[in-house]
Amino acid sequence: MVTVDPDVCVLCGLCVGVCPPDAMELTPTRLVVLPNCTECGWCVPYCPVGAISGGRPVSVMKRRRASAT
Ligand code: SF4
Ligand code: SF4
Repeated sequence: MVTVDPDVCVLCGLCVGVCPPDAMELTPTRLVVLPNCTECGWCVPYCPVGAISGGRPVSVMKRRRASAT
């Protein structure tokens, strides 16, 4: 289960653009993970404030690539 901590999320929307199945929705007040989330974990390293947890671990190389963009 991928979860977003609403107390930490700054609603930047970065994760929305990187989700392969388009399973994240940004509302005016919170980021919602939709039921079609595959728990791939891809969005986790993209969050600048570490608000997303869960999902499958993404490899170190993928994390480095994500943090470089
Ligand atoms: S874990 Fe994967 S499918 Fe689920 S919200 Fe993140 S990027 Fe999208
Ligand atoms: S990248 Fe992180 S802070 Fe930005 S909208 Fe997604 S969960 Fe919130």
